[in-house]
Amino acid sequence: MKKGGGTPMKTYHWQDICNWTGIPYREHGTYQVECPFCARQGKKHRMYVDADKRVYHCFHCQNEGGAVGLFAMVNDLSFDVAKDTLRRKSRGEEVVLRVVKTKVMEEPCNKVTLSKPLPMADRDRVYRTMIEFLKLNFGDRQYLRNKGLKDPMIDAMKFRSLPNRDQRHKMVEALQKQGLTLLGVPGFYEKDGQVKFAPFENGILIPIISPEKLIVGFQIRSTRANTPKDKRYFALSTSTKPMGTKSEVYVHFVGPKKEAVHAIYVTEGALKADIAACLSRIPFLALQGVNCTKFLADTLKKFPNLKTCYLAFDMDKFENENVLNAEKKLIEIIKKAGITPKVVNWDRKYKGIDDYLVAMEK
Ligand SMILES: [Zn+2]
Repeated sequence: MKKGGGTPMKTYHWQDICNWTGIPYREHGTYQVECPFCARQGKKHRMYVDADKRVYHCFHCQNEGGAVGLFAMVNDLSFDVAKDTLRRKSRGEEVVLRVVKTKVMEEPCNKVTLSKPLPMADRDRVYRTMIEFLKLNFGDRQYLRNKGLKDPMIDAMKFRSLPNRDQRHKMVEALQKQGLTLLGVPGFYEKDGQVKFAPFENGILIPIISPEKLIVGFQIRSTRANTPKDKRYFALSTSTKPMGTKSEVYVHFVGPKKEAVHAIYVTEGALKADIAACLSRIPFLALQGVNCTKFLADTLKKFPNLKTCYLAFDMDKFENENVLNAEKKLIEIIKKAGITPKVVNWDRKYKGIDDYLVAMEK
């Protein structure tokens, strides 16, 4: 495909890619399979597969990539030839394919015991108290200003900097002093009989807010220098820690009372939605990732007067089959909910809807 014009790259279902390559299929989440490329050298290693992001990675042979890349690798084809072969295959043409023999590898058996998640109202109370305790440091505030947010907006959105080790300790103490239960809230876990907060550092906590205006989680924007693009945003979760709690990919809402919402914009990333909603005064929903649609149908149901959903994904979607594919899936979910989906496009010079709105402000 030529960049900046022409036809968008053809998209493929993850299930088809799996069927055609022999990689075990799962609809959602990350899973591990025996790496078929290491197996060629007679070695047994784990390959990590992310069904939502449609990417794979083996830390041993360093093979990694997306859906088309996986297909290319299995069939020993160049990326372009693989694209062409996939196109012919999806048209139903007779194509000879290589299918690898591999299987899902379950997680190592030292699996930790997790806490039972607390009810959302309790979670909200913990998070709101946590926000009262935490601060937004100067560098992080500056980062948000550079994104186009004014100070009153930054304060209203309750962005906070991740605490350092000492602050974490003091925060847990302060929360416990108020009689709050912390285990069962994503971000907390237990070590040596003591409750701890996740040891993430250098990042901004971005609240994930439900249509009922409860804080149900946080997305973290890493501010560490040289963070790879795909690791800049992640959820506050303690799903791998003892007595920790998994975060779910809840949909973030920013806007007025849910009953007053008749039309809403949908984008990817809570911070982007916050910025765009602030600048446009239009209500927004944000998925935590383009494929994080697990809770979208349930979220839409919570708006009794919602008639129209505008899809506002980054304009580089025309060069990213993953996003275009997700957009199609979303249109289906929205239609099924009895709501009219509309795709919004803008000048491709501006990547995100927030970038576009910031530019329009100037
Ligand atoms: Zn490998």
